[in-house]
Amino acid sequence: MLNKKTIDDINVKGKNVLLRVDFNVPLKDGEITDDTRIKAALPTIKKLSGDGAKLIICSHLGKPKGEVKPELSLKPAADRLAELLGKEVKFLKDDNVVGEHALWAKENLKEGEIGLLENTRFRPEEEKNGEDFSKELASLADIYVNDAFGTAHRAHASTAGVAAFVKETAVGYLMEKEIQFLGNAVDDPVRPFAAILGGSKVSSKISVIDSLLEKVDILLIGGGMAYTFAKAQGGKIGKSLVEEDYLEYATQMIKKADEKGVRLLLPVDTVVAPEIDNEAKFRTVDIMAIPDNQMGVDIGPRTIALFKDALKKAKTVIWNGPMGIFEIPNFAQGTKEIAKAMAELDATTIIGGGDSAAAVNQLGFADKMTHISTGGGASLEFLEGKEMPGVAAIADK
Ligand code: ADP
Ligand code: MG
Repeated sequence: MLNKKTIDDINVKGKNVLLRVDFNVPLKDGEITDDTRIKAALPTIKKLSGDGAKLIICSHLGKPKGEVKPELSLKPAADRLAELLGKEVKFLKDDNVVGEHALWAKENLKEGEIGLLENTRFRPEEEKNGEDFSKELASLADIYVNDAFGTAHRAHASTAGVAAFVKETAVGYLMEKEIQFLGNAVDDPVRPFAAILGGSKVSSKISVIDSLLEKVDILLIGGGMAYTFAKAQGGKIGKSLVEEDYLEYATQMIKKADEKGVRLLLPVDTVVAPEIDNEAKFRTVDIMAIPDNQMGVDIGPRTIALFKDALKKAKTVIWNGPMGIFEIPNFAQGTKEIAKAMAELDATTIIGGGDSAAAVNQLGFADKMTHISTGGGASLEFLEGKEMPGVAAIADK
């Protein structure tokens, strides 16, 4: 259970509140292409504004690396937020984030009014958790609220440092919800508890296997990660994605699963193609015998059947990472079938990971899942049991 103060535990009426959200939205030609993250912060924004806070919101956007990059301005997010709220949102356009506009807002916002600061990563101190910038941010508020789950695994000025210099702190509703769903799943799952891992960020994800093996009853591994395991077991994997440095680790994990009595399932067959292209000729082969000029791009039909059968009795399922290169229609079958199988389960189903969430959305199964996490890297680190600096910085109840 979450033992941190939430926005239901504090009184914000007439107070200056600084709210950190995750408005790190995808942009194309200055337009927001997916506003899921803005929508996810609405309950907290509405609550604080409705309770009479003088609300200053902040977020990062993209990777400007401490420089002012006009194309990464949060202005479009201010406009979209205003649209979604049906209410004015003042964009506080200071290139140094805390400048004359921000200071004006601190003095002049009325109860319930909202301002949005410029991209916090325009300041080089942000990602270094610089104390001076933390203090500047803190000078804008009596109360700091963190609702940015997607960045809570980073100790930055606006996600962690700032908390030390304000009178009161709390987490927002999104953070509370994420921690509750992910936390319950990991700490007290209804069993059988299954995890499905895939995707391409193999080296950053592979270490999660070790901690998941302490918790789950069933572990399914597909996507780009599977070929490292196939090679570790002596398979021929052609041009498939592989993490040579983790072959030994993969072998250890197979052994550990066996010792722990965890049912670890790896693909038995795989769809292969000579290149990542929907026009490319593709076929299914044994995962241990991929021809030299081919690469694994999806799990095969026998694997789909095997994974579906293993999931049948599961009561809690967490999924991170697509089963194949689902952006290419011909290589999306495995991801689609697993999403469908999860949607049909009578179980708690949780999706973590940006691309996995996108896949589930795109395939139309989003409303059939219990929870789709807004945090990619954050949800994984959480599942690994790591303490998140953005949560640790908030006062206990
Ligand atoms: P998430 O964002 O859900 O955490 P990742 O970022 O780790 O997932 O991986 C998503 C990407 O993995 C997708 O772009 C997908 O195309 C890719 N992928 C899945 N299977 C393979 C594969 N066999 N080979 C290469 N890339 C793959
Ligand atoms: Mg991703």
